[in-house]
Amino acid sequence: MQEKDVSGAPFASRGPEHWHKDFPIAKGERQSPIDIDTKAAIHDPGLKSLFPSYEQAVSRRIINNGHSFNVEFDDSQDKAVLKGGPLTGTYRLIQFHFHWGSSDGQGSEHTVDKKKYAAELHLVHWNTKYGDFGKAVQQPDGLAGLGIFLKIGDAKPGLQKVLDALDSIKTKGKSADFANFDPRVLLPESLDYWTYPGSLTTPPLLECVTWIVLKEPISVSSEQMLKFRKLNFNKEGEPEELMVDNWRPAQPLNNRKIASFK
Ligand SMILES: [Zn+2]
Repeated sequence: MQEKDVSGAPFASRGPEHWHKDFPIAKGERQSPIDIDTKAAIHDPGLKSLFPSYEQAVSRRIINNGHSFNVEFDDSQDKAVLKGGPLTGTYRLIQFHFHWGSSDGQGSEHTVDKKKYAAELHLVHWNTKYGDFGKAVQQPDGLAGLGIFLKIGDAKPGLQKVLDALDSIKTKGKSADFANFDPRVLLPESLDYWTYPGSLTTPPLLECVTWIVLKEPISVSSEQMLKFRKLNFNKEGEPEELMVDNWRPAQPLNNRKIASFK
């Protein structure tokens, strides 16, 4: 029988509070997300500029995986890569996805001085020295997560192509072709960032991610946010559970430092 959460929140009922039972690393020392205390972040003059090279990116597919939706890229060659910043070597873009709220006042995973944004974009890259994504997640420097906040304001035109595809992947397991999407349209002007060592924010919660969180948010309109919230956690034919609040709350910083570039 399905466990039922008293709050009625579907993500919560099988969500973050329960993950440690199957994934003990949930209580590990370098879990994500975290609150970014901007006063405690250390300006590091040794950090470099971030260099996303997405001109040759080849998007393939968009898929509802039951906790978000992924836009997947061809990562069989160095087409779309992230270099620089805190990273050594080359990290290949494999997918991006979002986390969002049930209302505009929450939705991001990282917070900034406890402030929650309406949503957060995660561009996921793997370290090419490990050969493939599956090997990379077993390594402490296996992945680079580029986090970008979405703040309520003007509509982001570049986001609309993604949102218009969501009608065809409403329920878990559905996917659709999604070619010719340029991820550069989702970047803000400034690539100034905070960085710290962390983890995947969904099971298996592996501690393999160098997080790079951009300081400048991109804008999204309230109307655009409504389209995210029409997705479903459930499979087709099952009772509808709206895909909202698919964010993990901030985890303890423990013995970690947040470094700041500019
Ligand atoms: Zn994520």
